[in-house]
Amino acid sequence: MQAPVMTRRQLLATMAAAGIGTSLPAFAAGPRKEAGTTAKRAGASIGVALVGLGYYATHLLAPGLQQTKHCHLAGIVTGSPDKIPEWQRRHGIADANVYSYDDFDRIADNPDIQAVYIATPNDLHKPLTLRAAAAGKHVWCEKPMAMNAAEAQDMVDACRKAGVKLTIGYRLQHEPNTRRLMAMAREQPYGRILKVRAEAGFHAYDDVDPANKPWRLLPQHGGGAMYDMGVYSLNAARYTTGQEPVAVAARQEIHRPQLFEGVDETMFFTLEFPGGLVAECATSFGRNMNTLRADCERGWYELSPFQTYDGLEGRTSDGQAFADAVPHQQARQMDDDALAILRGTAPLVPGEEGVRDMRVVDAVYASARDGGRRIVL
Ligand code: NDP
Repeated sequence: MQAPVMTRRQLLATMAAAGIGTSLPAFAAGPRKEAGTTAKRAGASIGVALVGLGYYATHLLAPGLQQTKHCHLAGIVTGSPDKIPEWQRRHGIADANVYSYDDFDRIADNPDIQAVYIATPNDLHKPLTLRAAAAGKHVWCEKPMAMNAAEAQDMVDACRKAGVKLTIGYRLQHEPNTRRLMAMAREQPYGRILKVRAEAGFHAYDDVDPANKPWRLLPQHGGGAMYDMGVYSLNAARYTTGQEPVAVAARQEIHRPQLFEGVDETMFFTLEFPGGLVAECATSFGRNMNTLRADCERGWYELSPFQTYDGLEGRTSDGQAFADAVPHQQARQMDDDALAILRGTAPLVPGEEGVRDMRVVDAVYASARDGGRRIVL
C-alpha cells in the first residue's frame, strides 16, 4: 500500500505551527543503530516491531528507540515494500523480522519481537491490536486509541484475554512537566481547582488537493481535529483535574468545507466534572493553540506549550517557572512501557486510560452533531 502522507511542505508547516522543530532530516536523525542494538540485546530488552512506517514512526519512534535502554527496534510491519531496504539498512533489521499487513500474523512465531507499536491511521488501531494480541505480542498503540469507546473496550478485552499488556501512546503522561501538573491535581497547592482551559491545535492543510486528501481529513480513517489533537486537550483536562468528566457540550466550526467533509476542523467542548469544576477545551486543524491552564482558589498555573515534543514551559501566578528537560519523550515513554513488561508491573498509561478518553470523544461527537449536553457514558 502506498500511503498518502503529507507533503514535506505541509509537514514542515504543521510542525512549525505546533511548535515542533522544523529541521526535518531526510530520514530519522542519529547514528546507525547496530552497536546500540547489540548492547541492548545483551541485557534485558524488549524487541519492538514498528507497525506503519509513516511520519511518527520514522521521525520520532525509530530515533527514540536509538536512545532507549530497555527496548530496541527489532522488526517492521509495512504496506510499502519500497520503504523496507532503507529501514533494514539503517536499523539492521533481519529479513525474518520484516512483515506486511498480509503476513503480520506470522509474528506469533518470532521470538525477537515481544511488543508491536501501532502507528497507523486511526481506523487500523483496533484490527491491528486484535491481531497482535492474538499473536501473543504486547501492544503499544498510538492515540486516539480507536474510533469509539466500543472498539477501545474490545481492544482492552482482547489483550486481557491474550495475557498481553496494552498501553496507549500518551507520551505526555511520561513527561516531567506534565507529571508535575498531575501531582498538583492531587496536592492542590493553590487551593481547589475552579476551572481548566486545555487547547491543542494547529493550522494546516491549505495545500491539500480536495481530490486527494490525506487520511487525517477522511472520516473512514478516523480523520478530524478531535481524534488527532482533541485527545490532547481532553486527556490534559482529565490529568490536570485528576477527575473524570460526567457531561460534555460541544460545538464545531468548519471554515474550509472543501477540505472538511464529514470531519471536524475546529471543535470546542466543555467538560463538566463532579462538584462543578469545568474544563473549557478546544482543538483545531485551522488555528494554532497550545495552552493548558488551571485557575484555582488562590492562584493559577499553566503549561504553554504543553503538548510539543520538547520545550514544555510551566509558570505559576506567584512567579515560579519550570521547564524540566527530558532527552526524548518517546524514548522515555517506550522505556517506561518496556520496564512494565520486564517487571510485570502495571503500565503508566494502560488501555483503560484510552477507553476513558474514547467515551468522552463519543459524547463530544454526539453533542456536536445533535446539539445539547451529553452525559459521558
Ligand atoms: P502517517 O500518515 O505519516 O503514517 C501512517 C502510516 O501508516 C503510513 O505511512 C503507512 O505506513 C501506514 N498505513 C497503513 N495503512 C494506511 C492507509 N490506508 N493510509 C495511510 N497510511 C497507512 O501518520 P502519522 O505517523 O503522523 O500518524 C500515525 C499514528 O500516530 C496516528 O494514529 C496518529 O494519531 C499518531 N501520532 C501520534 C503522535 C504523538 O505525539 N503521540 C504524533 C503523530 C502521530 P506503511 O507505508 O509503512 O504501511
